[in-house]
Amino acid sequence: MVGRRTSRSPGGVGRFHDLAELDAELIECRACPRLVAWRERVAIEKRAAFADQEYWQRPVPGFGPDDAALLIIGLAPAAHGANRTGRMFTGDRSGDFLFAALHAVGLASQSESISADDGLRLYGTRMTAPVRCPPPQNKPTVAERDRCASWLHAELELLAPTVRSVVTLGSFGWAATLRTFGALGWEVPRPRPKFAHGATTTLTRDDAAIEVFGCYHVSQHNTFTGRLTPQMAQEVLAAAGRHAGLRVAGPE
Ligand code: SF4
Repeated sequence: MVGRRTSRSPGGVGRFHDLAELDAELIECRACPRLVAWRERVAIEKRAAFADQEYWQRPVPGFGPDDAALLIIGLAPAAHGANRTGRMFTGDRSGDFLFAALHAVGLASQSESISADDGLRLYGTRMTAPVRCPPPQNKPTVAERDRCASWLHAELELLAPTVRSVVTLGSFGWAATLRTFGALGWEVPRPRPKFAHGATTTLTRDDAAIEVFGCYHVSQHNTFTGRLTPQMAQEVLAAAGRHAGLRVAGPE
């Protein structure tokens, strides 16, 4: 088990100079008793296939360059994926699907994400989540969501100067994105646009604009049933990458 340090609250996050400073503080967070208990219990019980591995069992930082032009915002780490490997979308089926799509459109150096030291790189793209610890059944409570929002708020504040596009995976990420950028002073259209696969909306602040793209979540529920196909994911990622000024190889 990871050594226990003082319980840190994201309410005291304040402002950070850079993402490295934010991430160093984030991984010590123990503000949600239910989620802390769950992430550590999963790490003890483990899945049989990972019985010989030591789980990360801490909050999971964003992954990708700190001057990213494209952000991908999901929901929360998977219990046996990022909660095991310590890197977003790494080591589970959702990540397999997402990184294959990113690689297909030229935004990732390889199509597989196995472990934090597998050499994978993202090009101009960073992925993060509104909730940083795995919730049981992938369902954080409203209180947990709101408690963790300060971390996303701080991360987006640091990334906003370079971000031009955001891909939100599912309605949870869509709502968190609009809420958080709104709290940072970005103008969000009213009434608030609803999430849909293929939906877009524009956030503005002074002379800057960020385009938000909706994409079904890369969960197995969506990818195994064909609700979200590789082609559909690649189309959204390519459109968002192109809008962000990145070199994209995917479908028009
Ligand atoms: S979910 Fe967020 S606020 Fe709650 S313990 Fe994890 S990092 Fe901290």
